[in-house]
Amino acid sequence: MKKTNLGILGGGQLGCMLCMAAKKLDVYTIVWSDDPMSPAKEFSDEFILSNYNDKEKINYFTKKVDKITFEFENIPFDILDKLNSIKEVLPKPQINKIIQNRILEKNFVNDQNIKTTQYKKINNKDDLISNADLLPAMLKTATLGYDGKGQFKLNNLEDCKNISLSTDSEYILEKMVNLKKEISVIVTRFKKNEYEIYEPFENKHEDQILKVSKIPANISKEHFSQSIENAKKISEKLDYVGTLCVEFFIDEKDNLLVNEIAPRVHNSGHMTINSHNISQFENHIRAVCGLKKVNILKLYNAKMTNILGNEITKYKGKKLKGNEFFFDYLKKEVKEKRKMGHFTEINKIND
Ligand code: ADP
Ligand code: MG
Repeated sequence: MKKTNLGILGGGQLGCMLCMAAKKLDVYTIVWSDDPMSPAKEFSDEFILSNYNDKEKINYFTKKVDKITFEFENIPFDILDKLNSIKEVLPKPQINKIIQNRILEKNFVNDQNIKTTQYKKINNKDDLISNADLLPAMLKTATLGYDGKGQFKLNNLEDCKNISLSTDSEYILEKMVNLKKEISVIVTRFKKNEYEIYEPFENKHEDQILKVSKIPANISKEHFSQSIENAKKISEKLDYVGTLCVEFFIDEKDNLLVNEIAPRVHNSGHMTINSHNISQFENHIRAVCGLKKVNILKLYNAKMTNILGNEITKYKGKKLKGNEFFFDYLKKEVKEKRKMGHFTEINKIND
């Protein structure tokens, strides 16, 4: 049988792990990125470096690939749509149009009768001041944020007056949630009513960046099943194909609220490489390439720690125990708070 050629847009660590999973499935990977320092360059079968508008590269790429997917959600919709008119992009570009914008994303979630924190669209300072009843709150740029970038905590009216808003950005003001816990659910949807769903991951953030994820999550049975139901419903309503993550907040009154949706493989699921028979990455490749769906099986409990910035030096050359795994993203430049690698520890399920 002919090998599938999978085009992957974006060349970060998620791309690296997608390429590793593709090798196992005998899928040929062509990563396209506009960043010459892309770590996925070292893991893909082929690497294209150029901006995503380059006509010649679009031609070459779309001729060569059978299917296209992406590893980061902020690729402009117009580019995804153009590529999709030549070769199928999965998940569908229309989904990104919703999820790329935090306001459209939260409107969509609420339309499914799934709760989020209260929020308001903000265009200028007057909007901010007239919605002061939401304070304390998080002000976020409606588009293009990640790892806490483009987010500002506003405690009082004084903070609202002092903050400078860009005139050409749209913002969302989200009521601050008193967090008891954060969890996420990763689902891989193959087609209508056909999914593989991982159990909820419990997540700890530091400075708005994920630090530690673990399974099992220490949550109630109700939150366990409700979060899975919500993630399933969201993937079904989006007619999603591939791996998707829904991030949830649990507040001090035990309300389960959707925080955001990631239309891609997700940092909280990196441990599935070691904790399950099939990782979130392999499942994504299987779904978008139309390969066989295999039932997932949890093999171990696990804990994953993100390695940020200079912490990477401690891990390089570290002697690992049999139940420990270290992934180095091989990033050339160390930056403060930058995700440089991750460390996973697995343990027997009844330990
Ligand atoms: P990103 O796209 O950077 O992941 P998120 O909206 O998920 O953005 O925010 C990152 C983290 O910041 C969350 O996981 C949470 O810990 C904290 N956070 C964001 N918004 C809120 C909020 N409204 N209430 C409480 N904590 C929040
Ligand atoms: Mg998030």
